[in-house]
Amino acid sequence: MRPRAFELLDGALRITWDDGVVCYPGTLLRAACRCATCQAAKRRDAPTFSAAGGLVAAEPVGEYALQLRFADGYDRSIFPFV
Ligand SMILES: [Zn+2]
Repeated sequence: MRPRAFELLDGALRITWDDGVVCYPGTLLRAACRCATCQAAKRRDAPTFSAAGGLVAAEPVGEYALQLRFADGYDRSIFPFV
């Protein structure tokens, strides 16, 4: 499902879906990154981020995802719409 709209709000991502609005905290999104680097770090129980990694930017990737950038400079998080 693609969002109707999205915006950044105080370090969080606010998405308007067809069935409602959800606000995703930046720290939760940062911890949920599924890229190979973050997944490998999680397997080693060595997270690559600090709790201060709020969200600072979100850009569409084609029609299928958002690429997120966090306060700690990390910008490799791509979250597909499912
Ligand atoms: Zn990652």
